[in-house]
Order: sequence, then structure tokens, then C-alpha cells
Amino acid sequence: MRTTIKTPATIEGIGLHKGKPSKVTFLPAEGATGYRFISSVFSEPLPARLDRVAGTVRGTNITDGKNTIYTVEHLLSAAAGLGIDDLDIEITGEEPPAADGSALAFATALHKAGLKEKPDQERKTLTLSGQLEMVKGDIRFVARPNHLGVTFKLTYDYPHKLVGKQVIEFTLTPEEYLVRVAPARTFGFSHELEALKKAGLALGGSLDNAVVIAENEITAKGGLRFAEEFARHKLLDLIGDLALTGLPLKDIYIEAERPGHAANVNFAKLLLEKAQTV
Ligand SMILES: [Zn+2]
Repeated sequence: MRTTIKTPATIEGIGLHKGKPSKVTFLPAEGATGYRFISSVFSEPLPARLDRVAGTVRGTNITDGKNTIYTVEHLLSAAAGLGIDDLDIEITGEEPPAADGSALAFATALHKAGLKEKPDQERKTLTLSGQLEMVKGDIRFVARPNHLGVTFKLTYDYPHKLVGKQVIEFTLTPEEYLVRVAPARTFGFSHELEALKKAGLALGGSLDNAVVIAENEITAKGGLRFAEEFARHKLLDLIGDLALTGLPLKDIYIEAERPGHAANVNFAKLLLEKAQTV
């Protein structure tokens, strides 16, 4: 059966890339409508789906062709990570609040709102009977059937003396997502910041909502939350981008090496095309 939330929940703050105040209110969704953004700029609710993706530079954006919602992946990650199928997301502004740079604020709000089951609505899932692979340069995704549930193995690798290679492997449940994935924060390299700001990105970025990596030090408010916080954040992003398939994963093992938003979206498209819907 499908799920939504029991009660509304609101989060306010500043958007990461646009740097403007914004507010999201999560609302229960009665129909089998998936994740939808509701805003005064849209004539009808905008479904958060692959065919609405407008850009994948430093975040995943969705559009109705005229107006765009930026950086939807952390919010969607929280919804998918907690096993919520249908959610209306009322948004004021062009981008959800960055909060602390992780999905924790969204996940906590959704968790507190409580899960509501919809016994009369059938839940379809994505699953695999064989192996699927996608390789582009040093980016690699492999997916295969898995009797353990939904397992992710993710490798983040960056040639920096304080970063290097981080590998994580989790079999995720909503409880595990909340504790192991949701708190991992966005990070950026200080040498890129100037260029990002010139490109109109990271305008709301600060040490309140990102971990900043400089040549000789990593600055993270309160210290790093996990030894492999960067790999965990990449997993958070991947879960959010895969949510754009509109279907939860079932009994699947996904290995992702050096993923990023563009690759995540391409892999989500491949998965939707090749996997079985059951
Ligand atoms: Zn992210």
C-alpha cells in the first residue's frame, strides 16, 4: 500500500544556490500522485519526475517549462528515504531552504509528521531480474537483484590530501536513513567558491549549511558528523535523484562510483527503462 504523511510540516530558511528566503510546507497527499511541488507560479502541481528535470549543475532542478524549482534533491531524498510515496510540497520561492546542508531538517519534519498508510492504494516498485551497468569515464553504476533489500555501495573519490577515497555500504530502512544518511552535509571546495558565485550558484552557501574544504583544512560546524560524511552526502543526493523515477526501489543492490547529479539522473532513466515495475 502507498503512504503519505499524517499532518502538515513546515520548514523555513535560505536557499543554498539562490540565497533567498524560502519556505516549504509538506502536505498529506490523498491520491497516488507521487511528489508534487505546489507554488503560486505553477498553474498546476509540478510532479518531481525525470521528464521535468531542467538542470543538474550542482543540484537537480525541475521545471514546468516556464518556472524552475532549484535544488530539489535533499528534500526528495528525505521523502524517499523515509518510505513516503505521495507528498505535496508547497513552496514559496525558487528553492527549498538549505537548512544545515543535509536532509536532516526535512527528514525530521517528515518523521514527526508521521507516516500514514493508504490501504486502498497499490504501491508499485522498481526491481531487477538481471544486472544493469552504466559507465561513463570514471563514473560507474551497477545494479543487480538483492535478497537483503535495498543496498547501496557508494565510492566518493577526490584527489585531495584531506579527502581521498571514501567507500560506504548500507542496506537502508527508513530508520537507518534517518540516522546514517540524512545528517550528512553538502560540501564544497573553497577554490571553487568564487567561480560558483560568479555563475550565480552557492549564493546562500555559508559554514552554516556546508562543509568547506580548503587546501590544508576542512571547516565543518561542530566537526565532521561522520568520517565518510562526503560519501554519505553523495548517497543522500543519489537517493534524492533516484526518487525522480516516481517509484520506490525494491530488492536491489546499487553500486555507484563517483556519482554526481547528471550521472544520477541518467542512471535513474536507465533504471526506469530497464527495471521491472512490480
Ligand atoms: Zn547534495
